[in-house]
Amino acid sequence: MASLKSVNIGGVTIGGGAPVAVQSMLSVKTSDVKASVGQICRLRDLGCKIFRVAVPDVAAAEAIAEIKKKTGAPIVADIHFDYRLALAALKAGADKIRINPGNLPRERVPIVAAACKERGAPIRVGANGGSLSKELLVKYGGVTAEALVDSALENIKILNDCDFDDICVSLKASSAPLTVAACRLFALRAPYPLHIGVTEAGTEQGGVIKSAVGIGALLLDGIGDTVRVSLTAPPEKEVTAAYRILAAAGLYTPPVEIISCPTCGRTRIDIVSIANELEERLRGVNKHIKVAVMGCAVNGPGEARDADIGIAGGDGDALLFKKGAPVRKIEEKDIIPVLLEEIDKL
Ligand code: SF4
Repeated sequence: MASLKSVNIGGVTIGGGAPVAVQSMLSVKTSDVKASVGQICRLRDLGCKIFRVAVPDVAAAEAIAEIKKKTGAPIVADIHFDYRLALAALKAGADKIRINPGNLPRERVPIVAAACKERGAPIRVGANGGSLSKELLVKYGGVTAEALVDSALENIKILNDCDFDDICVSLKASSAPLTVAACRLFALRAPYPLHIGVTEAGTEQGGVIKSAVGIGALLLDGIGDTVRVSLTAPPEKEVTAAYRILAAAGLYTPPVEIISCPTCGRTRIDIVSIANELEERLRGVNKHIKVAVMGCAVNGPGEARDADIGIAGGDGDALLFKKGAPVRKIEEKDIIPVLLEEIDKL
């Protein structure tokens, strides 16, 4: 059920069957160009494709020009209420505007729509639990999936009435089931690309789980064209989490996949430390291999038969195996260096 329509954000297509794009929002002041550029570079190294920046004032809007010049990154300007900031951001080179036309004086909407059209910048309209009008809250008796969808459709209509259709949509709630229900309903009713995520999902640990449930359920339904994991944590964590969710949904193959056993009463070596250290040391390795870290030789190699390489723990040592077949024994202290050396040879 991939969205039929697509939009282009500074060279990144979302919708129309394009791969799901990971995005994040900068946590530094947009007007601090150095900090913004630094964060964009770090996020880009992690695979972030689209970068949203807050535009609370003219300085932030104008800073987009320098940020674009230094990074060339697709930039989304996040605007609330003030149409002049949208115009300033577009003038500075923003590739997309996130604004709700329902929050603007009606006579200003055509001005923003025309400026976006001229620049080829799409508009994201969004509905979330906190943005619903009093009328919709009364009509639906609170924040419901139907109310969120109606709110998004109202905003789309305002733009369509200005002859503007370069639109993507987000429907978010801090509840994963409500977010999923709203996005499913919207996908049945309109063809626009969907930005999916559970808003204000929470701190790193709980927020990742909540996001994985909400985003994961939608992705498995084939719904969602761009993803943001919204965490009370540095945006770098959001990007890493987004890729983990995409990988778990089968939509992304990490360069190195580590499979590790949950450990049990048979485990005699420190599998937890080994798996974590290996994951850290293999970050950035671009090999497309599967590495297994298993706790015992009884079940380990068999359970990890399709791994390219791995170890199965013994008592103070481990069996090195390749494609499920044993190769040789190594001491526990040598497990990490040996695995790194063997992976280097692959
Ligand atoms: S691989 Fe061995 S140690 Fe790990 S969970 Fe399975 S049986 Fe237990």
